[in-house]
Amino acid sequence: MFEEQEIFQCRQCGHCCQGETTVSLTADDLERLVAYLHLPVEVVKERYLRITGEVVQMKTVGGHCIFYNEGCTVHSGKPWRCTQWPLHPSMLSDQNNFEAIRQSCPGIKGEMGYEAFRVRLAAILEQKQHQEKQAKG
Ligand code: SF4
Ligand code: SF4
Repeated sequence: MFEEQEIFQCRQCGHCCQGETTVSLTADDLERLVAYLHLPVEVVKERYLRITGEVVQMKTVGGHCIFYNEGCTVHSGKPWRCTQWPLHPSMLSDQNNFEAIRQSCPGIKGEMGYEAFRVRLAAILEQKQHQEKQAKG
């Protein structure tokens, strides 16, 4: 059994929360965020979200996500795409994705090389999936 910290340990650099746009939210993400913030959905939309047609994203302020303040301030209410980062399953099948994510995230422990990383990532993601299924009952 592998531990996540063998392949990733967040350095709190904030890179993944910076930029002029953010990840987009699904309907489930919006529901979870609203519940987390304990605010009416219209207030959440007005205050925190940027909605362009069908695309719902978080607003950015000063070049970072509105919820970023030396770390994520809505941790358990954040969108699933944020939750997935940086251990993205696309790294399992494509070394280029591994290299690209490694470049963007200093928390990735890539020194062990792609194959060793891939084996650990596969086991860790499988373990997470199993735990999620158990939690859902
Ligand atoms: S880019 Fe990586 S190390 Fe930096 S805050 Fe995001 S997850 Fe953590
Ligand atoms: S919701 Fe949290 S983790 Fe996602 S971009 Fe915003 S601050 Fe970062």
